[in-house]
Amino acid sequence: MVDDAIDDLRDIRDRPVWQAMPDPVRAAFGTPVPHEPQPLDNICAEVKANIRPYRMGNVHPRFWMWYMGSSNLTGALADFLAAMDGSNLGAGSTGASLVDRQTTDWIREMMGFPATASGTLVNGGSMANIVGLMAARNHMAGVDLRQTGVAPMPQPLRFYASDQVHACHDKAMNLLGLGRQSLTRAPSDAAFRLDPAKLLAAIQADRARGLRPACVIATAGTTNTGSIDPLPEIADLCAQEGLWLHVDGCVGALVAIAPQNRHLVAGIDRADSLALDLHKGLHAPFDVGCALLRDRRQHRQTFAEDAEYLQKTARGIASAELLSDYNLDTSRGFRALKVWMMLKEHGVAKFGRLIDQAITQARYLDSVFAADPQIERMAPTVVDILCFRFNPGGLAEDALRALNVEIMVQMQETGIAAVSDTTIHGRHSLRVAICNHRTTLADLDALRAEVLRIGNILR
Ligand SMILES: *Cc1c(COP(=O)(O)O)cnc(C)c1O
Repeated sequence: MVDDAIDDLRDIRDRPVWQAMPDPVRAAFGTPVPHEPQPLDNICAEVKANIRPYRMGNVHPRFWMWYMGSSNLTGALADFLAAMDGSNLGAGSTGASLVDRQTTDWIREMMGFPATASGTLVNGGSMANIVGLMAARNHMAGVDLRQTGVAPMPQPLRFYASDQVHACHDKAMNLLGLGRQSLTRAPSDAAFRLDPAKLLAAIQADRARGLRPACVIATAGTTNTGSIDPLPEIADLCAQEGLWLHVDGCVGALVAIAPQNRHLVAGIDRADSLALDLHKGLHAPFDVGCALLRDRRQHRQTFAEDAEYLQKTARGIASAELLSDYNLDTSRGFRALKVWMMLKEHGVAKFGRLIDQAITQARYLDSVFAADPQIERMAPTVVDILCFRFNPGGLAEDALRALNVEIMVQMQETGIAAVSDTTIHGRHSLRVAICNHRTTLADLDALRAEVLRIGNILR
């Protein structure tokens, strides 16, 4: 199994980024539950024939859809070791829980948060945002929400973000019992950033209406364009208005470890809570994200329960603090090990250089596109996300959308390159997210050539 997987990864560049699954292969996933045993060799052969060739493709050097890391060998082997170790980190005095604790301490250090801050590893950015927003809600509610729920709150809470905020925040509002209407999306400026003046106006208008402004969600690296909300101004505004500052850093927080670009996220360490994704910028195998909270006591107060069957002892297996006191889980896998081993093997500096490399590559592609009359750039390129479309001129918006979707899908189907699309300020755009440590400049040249080739056939 290990040899096969490693050979496959070694030759990844020679394979298509993605390929459609033929019907007979798809049919193999319709068989009923197996009651009798079968040789493991046969099952491995099935994995090799029916699953691996039809993967997402994000380990391939020309995969740039959405925003995904591209994994790494040490992280993958660590996941295997973690599963063999088998520890449940929710409770218990284990080496594994110390690794978990140390890993969140390292991330706290990488993000410039004080030693009094705390962190928790979760399954991804969406959950990391929920952890931060739940602490924000409870702290700002003015009543003991854990006891009473949201019903007796004297004034409805309001959260604020730009119209570029990730959809997981709507899920969070749903889960937190506040509803989508509690999240005000202020119109972003021409560079897709939250506008502090509009934000302040919205906050003051809500106060005048008897609502309770609670929290600003700033995004460091929006999913659509990679734009970074003006963190220092928003932090000042939150301090002045007495609001909680949550930063969604799933795309951009780790820019803080990239020496050439860390100035872009200056001020991120002023957040009361921060969500970041390690399966994105750090290329940890899926899935792992992290929430950091400035105030450890508040963090614990939000989540800790007191179960009679989970009492701490002075010595023995139950003598450690419960990691489940810092998030919504009880049981907890050993996802920390991959991050811990990767950070030890490569060092933070190398991961920082890889982030700089991706940003440099995005700027390179941006400059190449700028010189091309058939390519329209759709947003400023700030980090490693670039928005563009093929625009030969003379086509209406609908026709441009159809043309660009077809270019995108043809590139996926031929397995040459994978980009995704989005709509920003009402206009359709293709989108290249270079969260990929295997990408070279030649790969990006190949993307440009392919867009122009397909585009000029279809136009
Ligand atoms: C990816 C992303 C998320 C969600 O993270 P998951 O790890 O996919 O749950 C949240 N916010 C932003 C800005 C993102 O880019």
